[in-house]
Amino acid sequence: MNEIAAKKIEINGIVQGVGFRPFVYRMAGLNNITGEVANTSAGVVIHAEGLIGDIDRFCRDISEKTPILAKITEMTAGDCPTGGFDAFAIVKSEKGKTRSTMISPDVSVCEDCLCEMLDPSDRRYRYPFVNCTNCGPRYTIIADVPYDRPKTSMKSFAMCPACQAEYDDPGNRRFHAQPNACPVCGPSVTLFDNRQTRISVADPILKTAKLLKAGHVLAIKGLGGFHLAADAENPGAVAKLRQGKLREEKPFAVMSYDLERIRRFAHFDEDEKALLVSFRRPIVLLKKKPGNPLAEAVSPRNRYFGVMLPYTPLHCLLLKENFTALVMTSGNISSEPICIDNGDAFDRLSGIADFFLMHNRDILLRSDDSIVRVAAESERFVRRSRGYVPVPIFLKRKMPNVLAPGAELKNTVCLLKSDRAFVSQHIGDMENLETYDFFRATIRHLKNILDIEPQAIAHDLHPDYMSTRYALEQDGIRKIAVQHHHAHIVSCMAENHADGPVIGLSFDGTGYGTDGKIWGGEVLVTEYKRFTRAAHFEYLPMPGSAAAIKEPWRMGVSCLCHVFGENFRRPGLDMWQEINEKKAGVVAGMIRKRINSPETSSLGRLFDGVAAILGVRTTVRFEGQAAMELEMLADANETATYDYAWEKGDVRKILIRPIIEGVARDAEGGVALSKIAGKFHATLIRLFTDLCAEIRKETGINMVALGGGVFQNGLLLAGMTRELSRAGFAVISNRLVPANDGGISLGQAVVAAWILDHA
Ligand code: ZN
Ligand code: ZN
Ligand code: FE
Repeated sequence: MNEIAAKKIEINGIVQGVGFRPFVYRMAGLNNITGEVANTSAGVVIHAEGLIGDIDRFCRDISEKTPILAKITEMTAGDCPTGGFDAFAIVKSEKGKTRSTMISPDVSVCEDCLCEMLDPSDRRYRYPFVNCTNCGPRYTIIADVPYDRPKTSMKSFAMCPACQAEYDDPGNRRFHAQPNACPVCGPSVTLFDNRQTRISVADPILKTAKLLKAGHVLAIKGLGGFHLAADAENPGAVAKLRQGKLREEKPFAVMSYDLERIRRFAHFDEDEKALLVSFRRPIVLLKKKPGNPLAEAVSPRNRYFGVMLPYTPLHCLLLKENFTALVMTSGNISSEPICIDNGDAFDRLSGIADFFLMHNRDILLRSDDSIVRVAAESERFVRRSRGYVPVPIFLKRKMPNVLAPGAELKNTVCLLKSDRAFVSQHIGDMENLETYDFFRATIRHLKNILDIEPQAIAHDLHPDYMSTRYALEQDGIRKIAVQHHHAHIVSCMAENHADGPVIGLSFDGTGYGTDGKIWGGEVLVTEYKRFTRAAHFEYLPMPGSAAAIKEPWRMGVSCLCHVFGENFRRPGLDMWQEINEKKAGVVAGMIRKRINSPETSSLGRLFDGVAAILGVRTTVRFEGQAAMELEMLADANETATYDYAWEKGDVRKILIRPIIEGVARDAEGGVALSKIAGKFHATLIRLFTDLCAEIRKETGINMVALGGGVFQNGLLLAGMTRELSRAGFAVISNRLVPANDGGISLGQAVVAAWILDHA
């Protein structure tokens, strides 16, 4: 038993740029193992020698004590000849042919680095770019793989002897930390005014804090792009920022120094706290505290604040300066992509920002802040971006290489390879050329760093989506069309490793249907390759087409015309306090004559209609606003429902009439809005639970998948999950990608891969 044995251990996963080799080195020391560890193009390979029992313990330690940023997806160990090693060593990277190693996302500054930065005797005291193998920038500074300093935006900073010594020492926390830097050799910050004149001060960060305190708006270069910052307690500063950004009502995210300060203005429970402090540092949606000190304009007419903790050392230094919170919103105007380049920031943001806090470490890949919330007892993405990307979604089986360019709004792209789906960072609404350029650059970059040459490209059915046009322009590659709501359900199935078929509830605002109409309230019996439409809301005209999305009162009129015909002007409704009857009459005429009134089965639009009828929202400033306010208004404990019904047939039609009749009757009768909104939600939950039960009887399918942007509604998500489970269904929903159109690219990719595989 005292014989020396040797094993070759191969490990795949996220094991590079995350301090994995120093970790292996330490575990070897603890277990009396000799040999070596090296990075390969596929991951990490270890030659381990020692007593059998020690090798076993070594392997167990590696899989059980894995560093927080690492993720082992595959670990194999095989016997091999002993090599007579008398020590354990970390050896140089091997140059490989394939590049399947995964890249770490950007990681918030760690406790060790923070302690150094706040220690006056440390050589990195108040140095805003301190980092180590456990923290710091990754995805946003990588130009190419393998991940080595010359292939990052740190290449222009040569390490000083002190930093180099840390970098070379296997026992050091900065061993092979590619962005390692200090005040002597690394990046630095500089303050400018908006005429690009440098402001010479000893500590630009302290000066920045003073300027913010004085009510100025600042552009601050961050990790994945610029932020526009203002003191969240200063109504004047926040108002100025709103004006400059051309953003009248969409909530601004805020950043706060620590949990204590967040407690001054928002509630959070244990789950929300865990998300706030996670190294991914997303923006977490938290319930506002009544009478909180933040300016009303930070998040007007909303029950929530989007809150994050500082994630770069620079943020920590800034936020420490006695702010309850700073607004930290993306550095862009309206719907353009966030600025990442210093020159570009001056060009585009000078009209908004009074001053610019710049630094000279280039951002190679733009990455917006991620946004999450806790709903139905789980983390849910509103936007999956910085801190999460490029961690792949692991699929149940290996699939062909596919590129999916996503949808039009909240665009992401997805590259699929083997059993991994790499969903890109948030790209945005494809409404302008700048966003389209970012979209193409992201596809190019991801193909390169992930080494994926797609065999096929998926695309939406909508002929006018920029992503569809992009796909159709690509030569010499197979194109596979994927229906929007099918993609929503498959994204949910894929991340949950469901085999299908499932009953898919695909609820959103807009998606192009196979009949050319606008879908969005769909019950689809779904397999990966195909779907059949089992039910949908009956079609309603959308008077004015896109105008009906911006002006929910048009959907209100459409609902009322559908139910009451000529008598749509029900006098007791609050809607008429905001919408004059003449305007409504014109729209009613459009509906009657079918002028510019495409038909839609969208549940998102039905939410709009109900919100308008109740006078909650007759016009909106951003997509989904009316539905969101209806949710926030609703009494979550309401169990009474309105009548509901569907027409039988191959494709069932869910009737609008009984629901709208009930809503209008209650509204005219002066029933409280919270009760009506609660009843409306309860109605949908009961309706779809019953409908699913009927479909189960016919098909025997017992799994329901929930997908589409409407499921950002926490009340509906939690209620559907609860009631369907009570009815004996297995219920799956999106946790790893957004339920909204940010998750479409995953669904497109998986559908296309299945079609390729099973042609
Ligand atoms: Zn660190
Ligand atoms: Zn240095
Ligand atoms: Fe959608």
